[in-house]
Amino acid sequence: MRAFVKGVATSIACVLAWHAPTAAQQPAARVQSLSPTPVPAVTTLVSRLDLERYKATIKGLTQFGDRRQGTERNRKAVDWIEAQLRSYGCPTERLTYVYDTPQRRTSQPAQAGSAPPPAIPRAVGGGRPRGIRTPTGVNTDPQKQPNETLRALNAEPAADGPREEVYCTKVGSTHPNEMYIIGAHMDGHGWGEAANDDGSGTALVMELARIFSMPDVRTERTIRFALWNNEETGLNGASAYVAQRKDLQGKEDPPGSGRYPEPTWLGMIQHDMMLFDHGMPRADGSIPPEQRPEADVNVEFQMNAKQMAGAQALAWYLHAANEKYASDYPAQVGPHMTNTDSTPFMDIVPAITVRENERGVHIGSGWDPQWHQPIDLFSTYSDKDFRLGLNAAQTTLGAIGELAGASIVSR
Ligand SMILES: [Zn+2]
Repeated sequence: MRAFVKGVATSIACVLAWHAPTAAQQPAARVQSLSPTPVPAVTTLVSRLDLERYKATIKGLTQFGDRRQGTERNRKAVDWIEAQLRSYGCPTERLTYVYDTPQRRTSQPAQAGSAPPPAIPRAVGGGRPRGIRTPTGVNTDPQKQPNETLRALNAEPAADGPREEVYCTKVGSTHPNEMYIIGAHMDGHGWGEAANDDGSGTALVMELARIFSMPDVRTERTIRFALWNNEETGLNGASAYVAQRKDLQGKEDPPGSGRYPEPTWLGMIQHDMMLFDHGMPRADGSIPPEQRPEADVNVEFQMNAKQMAGAQALAWYLHAANEKYASDYPAQVGPHMTNTDSTPFMDIVPAITVRENERGVHIGSGWDPQWHQPIDLFSTYSDKDFRLGLNAAQTTLGAIGELAGASIVSR
C-alpha cells in the first residue's frame, strides 16, 4: 500500500516537472488515478496543524498593522517572520530587489471605432460575474480607521528603494534538486491589520514551514516557503524572485556538493485571503454575518497559462487532498487564477492559487467587504472564519506531503 501510494505521488511529481507537455503527455488522465486513500504519515503531519496556533500566527502578524511595503512596519514584519521561521528550524534566506513607484501614464482618449464591449461580461482572470455585485476598492483615507493607535501605526507612507523578502527551505532527502514553492504575500494596505489579506495566507505558509521542519519529518523533494513582499503594488516581490532565480534552477553549486541553491521548480501554490466565505452580497448590499455552512476552499489555475495542463493537474491534486485530509470545508477547482504572486510563475511551472473565494467573480464582485479596508482586523473574524483557513492549510499540507514524499522518521 505504502509503496503504491508513493509511486503514484512520484509519477505525478514527474508529470508536474514537465516543462513543455505535448498533447500526448497531457496529465489529465493521471488525475483519474489519484488515490482516495490517505497516506498515514501525511495524516500525522496534518494532525499537527492547530486552530489556535494558526490564529496566534495571524495575530502576531497584525502587530505590524497593514505591513505596507516600503515602510518600517513592513521591514519589522519581515524580521519577525524570519525569526519565527528560524525558531521552527527552517533555514532562511532573503531576496533583495528595488521597488520604485512606476510613473503614471496619462490615459489616452478612446479611439473612435475601437473594439465594442464584449457580449459576455468578464471579470479579471476571465470568469463571468453573475448575481448581485457591490463596489470594491482600496481604502486610502486614514480617517476611516477609528482606532487611533492603529492609525498611527499605519501612518508612515511607502518610500521607493531597496526591498527584502524572506523564504526558508526544507531540503529533500533523495531529490534535493527538485522543489515545490509554497507562497503567500506578507505586505498589505488599506489602514487595517491586513489580517485576512494576507495575514491568513502568510500564517498558513509559516505553519506548513513549522510542521515540515520538525526533526522527525523527512521529505524526498525540497519544499520552499516564500513570503513575498510588494504583492499589492503589482506582484513585484514574486516577479523579482522569478527574474533573479529562474535560470538557476537545478544547478548544483558548487559542482559535486549535492547542494542546489535553486532546485528545479515542480509546482507553485500561492495562498491569498483564506478566511471569509459568507456568500454573495444580499439585495441591499449587505453581507451575511456568519461563515456560510457551504463555504469552500477555492483552488484556481489559469486557463491561459502556458503550464495550464500541469497546473490543472496540480489543482485537482489539491481537490483530492482536501477530501482526504481537510476536516470541515470542501475544495472547488476553477480556471480563472489571477492577480496574485502565482502569476509570474504560471508560464514556467504549474502554478495555482488557494483562496476563500474565486478572485475574479467573487472577490471582484464584493463578496469580501473587508478586502483592502480598515476593518480587515484580527477581531473581525470568528472561529468559523479562521477554520476555513485551517482547512486550506490541511489541503495544501496534505497535497504537498504526498507530492514531496513526506515520511516520519523515528529518532
Ligand atoms: Zn492579497
